[in-house]
Amino acid sequence: MAEQGGDGLPPLREVIGKYGLRAEKSLGQNFLLDLNLTGRIARCSGSLVGETVIEIGPGPGGLTRAILQQGAARLIVLEKDRRCLPALADIAAAYPGRLEVLNADALEVDETALFEGQAKIIANLPYNVATPLLIKWLGQRTRFSSLTLMFQKEVADRLTAVPGTKAYGRLSILCQWLCTTHKEFDISPRAFTPPPKVTSTVVLLTPREAPAFPASQPILEKVVAAAFGQRRKMLRASLKPLGYPPEDMLARAGIAPTRRAEELTVEDFCTLARIYEAEGGFPSLS
Ligand code: SAM
Repeated sequence: MAEQGGDGLPPLREVIGKYGLRAEKSLGQNFLLDLNLTGRIARCSGSLVGETVIEIGPGPGGLTRAILQQGAARLIVLEKDRRCLPALADIAAAYPGRLEVLNADALEVDETALFEGQAKIIANLPYNVATPLLIKWLGQRTRFSSLTLMFQKEVADRLTAVPGTKAYGRLSILCQWLCTTHKEFDISPRAFTPPPKVTSTVVLLTPREAPAFPASQPILEKVVAAAFGQRRKMLRASLKPLGYPPEDMLARAGIAPTRRAEELTVEDFCTLARIYEAEGGFPSLS
């Protein structure tokens, strides 16, 4: 394991000891101390030279150091735990003018207000807030050229799942409609201090210039929610709550009424959403 990064900063274990950074479960703190591994994560989205990067939850700074070593011109980190701030200040001093540290809850911050143009997001996310953060960034995706994110393997499986698999569902459809998604590699629990219970997976999401197929997002989300609300049922039953005769809608889309939600592609769902929208008169889309 490489703990010394060649950046003149002390090994991460020493940093953790010096500043008393005992991992807090409530903050999802599982630290990566292997700088080879953090370097590998930092490289997933290609060259960082001259880029603006946002990192959520830097903790003692293993990934932070890797991102700076890869040449990011400006790195903005958001860390909720005040105890990490002195360790991050040491990194800022080693990379003058390149690292900005904000003591903030990422759920409450609009990251896009912190930079002009586009940025890359790179983060080993706290698992308890990973999905809400991803949903927020999907809503602002034109401001991000890529998102390299570490999730619990089970969440990564959902993001990248194809139709006909157990993991395929609402999150797969929304993400794949808006981004290309690629599983980069798994990380064993043993690589973390302390080790989490499950394997982690790094996923690279690249926002599409336009969604993969035309559809209105709230309508698509409503159709997908209805279909997966009763995942095991045939679509002719599960789509009933939409208030439009499902058999009609499915016939117009060329989809057999006996099929189930998990068998439909993202394109199928977009077709259904357009038909549903064309019928109009759906006052409550929340
Ligand atoms: N990046 C470090 C690493 O790879 O070793 C730490 C990753 S650890 C899984 C998650 C980090 O996110 C912790 O440092 C934790 O304090 C921080 N965190 C947890 N909830 C947060 C939130 N809502 N906003 C910002 N940071 C948060």
